[in-house]
Amino acid sequence: MLAGGQSLLPMLNMRLARPQLLIDIMRLPGLGEIRREDGSLVVGAVVRQAALETWAELPGTLPLLARLFPHIAHWQIRCRGTVCGSIAHADPAAELPLALLALGGTVRLASRRGRREIPAEQFFLGPMLTARRDDEMIEAVLFPVHRPGFGYAFREVARRDGDFALVALAVVAGPDCVRLAVGGVEDRPLLLTLPPATARAHPEALAAALAGLAPRGDPHAPASYREAVLRALAPRIIAEAHACRD
Ligand SMILES: Cc1cc2nc3c(=O)[nH]c(=O)nc-3n(C[C@H](O)[C@H](O)[C@H](O)COP(=O)(O)OP(=O)(O)OC[C@H]3O[C@@H](n4cnc5c(N)ncnc54)[C@H](O)[C@@H]3O)c2cc1C
Repeated sequence: MLAGGQSLLPMLNMRLARPQLLIDIMRLPGLGEIRREDGSLVVGAVVRQAALETWAELPGTLPLLARLFPHIAHWQIRCRGTVCGSIAHADPAAELPLALLALGGTVRLASRRGRREIPAEQFFLGPMLTARRDDEMIEAVLFPVHRPGFGYAFREVARRDGDFALVALAVVAGPDCVRLAVGGVEDRPLLLTLPPATARAHPEALAAALAGLAPRGDPHAPASYREAVLRALAPRIIAEAHACRD
């Protein structure tokens, strides 16, 4: 399936993917919606990242996404790439899978057999590996919308502006818990669920949760660097998310 082509075309260029048949889904009808449904924002398969980023209601509806979009690649790439394409591609350092995980969102899949929904926590299985079956397409992703009492923060460290993150952190701080999604560190985005006010009141809970991660090293950064960034940034952005709870 070809959506915005911003990940698939490079993979075709490098011969990492060699499909026998390529189906361009961008002109299929009925997949371009951005609409509310039962406390979530439904984003259809062909909605480009820039379309959601510039949607006037985004800052009030999904403050986390409003903060995170400028970190995805460059404007020109976001004008082509789709939201669902990024979720389907499941790069371990991509920002949109992190947001879906931190917010507790859902992936809606469709095939000839029907539809099913998978929570983000069960969707990302490994590097560019998801629970989507070969004959399924992502019809839409559902992001739970902002509710009073919640605060959000996002931060990433990358080698250059627009690069994939070496470490990315997305936080949703609510009255009952803190959801910290970590990207770029292991082979898939990870979710840590922590007690509220973790950074200040329970620093040991945060330290224990971070100690359970196994950061990877690669030619861009050794594991020790990722670990140091995590330990330095996590308490700060959890505090930032708490500070903006309304
Ligand atoms: C230079 C550059 C820098 C980038 N930097 C970043 C970055 O910093 N952060 C980031 O997150 N991304 C980055 N990207 C990737 C970009 O966000 C892509 O747009 C996105 O990952 C894929 O979306 P797409 O619509 O282009 O998908 P495509 O490239 O068309 O498809 C990607 C994969 O998903 C599958 N797919 C697409 N849509 C569906 C669907 N609805 N159902 C099932 N399968 C589907 C395709 O079959 C393919 O396997 C970068 C890209 C480039 C070229």
